[in-house]
Amino acid sequence: MEKLMLPPFDYKPTPYEGLIFDGKMQYVFDEKGERYLDCIAGICTVSVGHSHPKIIKAAKDQYDKIQHITNIYLHPNIVEYSEKLASKFPGNLKVCYFCNSGSEANEFAMQLARSYTGQFDIIALRNAYHGMGAAMDLTANAAWKQPTPHGFGIHHALLPDTYRGPFNGEDAGEKYAQDVEDLIGTSTCGKVAGFICEPIQGVGGVIEYPPDYLKRVYEIVRKHGGLCIADEVQTGFGRTGDNYWGFQNYGVIPDIVTMAKGIGNGAPLAAVVTTPEIAQSITKKHHFNTFGGNPISMAIGKAVLEVIDEENIQEKAKEVGGYLHSELEKMREKHKLIGKIRGRGLMCGIDLVEDQKTKKPATTQAGEVMEKLKDLKVLIGKGGLFGNILRIKPPMCITKPDINYFIKALDVVLDSVEK
Ligand code: PMP
Repeated sequence: MEKLMLPPFDYKPTPYEGLIFDGKMQYVFDEKGERYLDCIAGICTVSVGHSHPKIIKAAKDQYDKIQHITNIYLHPNIVEYSEKLASKFPGNLKVCYFCNSGSEANEFAMQLARSYTGQFDIIALRNAYHGMGAAMDLTANAAWKQPTPHGFGIHHALLPDTYRGPFNGEDAGEKYAQDVEDLIGTSTCGKVAGFICEPIQGVGGVIEYPPDYLKRVYEIVRKHGGLCIADEVQTGFGRTGDNYWGFQNYGVIPDIVTMAKGIGNGAPLAAVVTTPEIAQSITKKHHFNTFGGNPISMAIGKAVLEVIDEENIQEKAKEVGGYLHSELEKMREKHKLIGKIRGRGLMCGIDLVEDQKTKKPATTQAGEVMEKLKDLKVLIGKGGLFGNILRIKPPMCITKPDINYFIKALDVVLDSVEK
């Protein structure tokens, strides 16, 4: 049959423009094969590197054996991984429950606190993000908050941010902790089931608290019969550099720890770790999760822990993260847009301001900086109450030369945005 041609028409198919196709360690690649330095890691999730060979091998090997069985029958991976994960915790935090997302982990933490204490009310921090679903009750971040049909008995205490909050003196930690005590006394009638916060607020804009804050709050909450929950979804697995867990930076040991994101290096894995005594308050009837503890996730989780140890990932987060922070501090002199460098290790926030004195959030500029960095092949995130805090949370295999590139790119971009 004769071939026919439509008339010429100027059209370039670009169905995937702007999408990321591939990833290798700290880099990702778009549809044209362009390389980007990934400084956000799928929102603090790709902990040890995109397509890390050891993690891929662990997953593939497991797929060859068995993919799923449910926790009705025990698979050795769940036992081996639970033991390895529990060994990373101080104190009596020895029992692991597995699920698939941070939201599920926080929902379950609430359930655990309520069943163990027999009390109902939970306190979280303002501006917090702890997930969707039932965890939406805990979430208070304006960008994400939605009304929920439940939500009874959830209260939000002042965010202990000494840069923007009402207290910033030496007694700030005590004053912010007092707000939690006041809330327990008034809103919960003295009966609190639990207090939950991240050791550094992530989506909220990389907010660290005064050093004595968590110690005081934990004392207060326990005095009223409540449990202390640390959401380590972003801060765990060495990311803050100084310690394996973010809560250790404050010298406290929680009763329940929730984790997701970095635990699976991008695979849907999450966990709740608690003490045997607290775990006993939950029966099988109260907790079931079809995919929780599946052999593939367990194999991946175990490989992630091994890579963190073998490649000294925590030490790298401390050294490379420390370097990032010190280079950024140097830039504050030159760039008036930089109000404060937040966080620690490879969990870093850059609070952009229109004026360093008034601290007025530079929200529009933050968006511009993010876009222009992308033009220079650097991907970052942004967050905070006003959307003005640049979030730098790369895969923890990032190197000093990468940081030098990032700093140079940021310098160029800030020059252009400040004009
Ligand atoms: N807790 C924190 C601190 C988070 O940052 C997030 C996700 N951004 C969650 C919980 C919820 O995790 P997921 O999206 O896996 O449900």
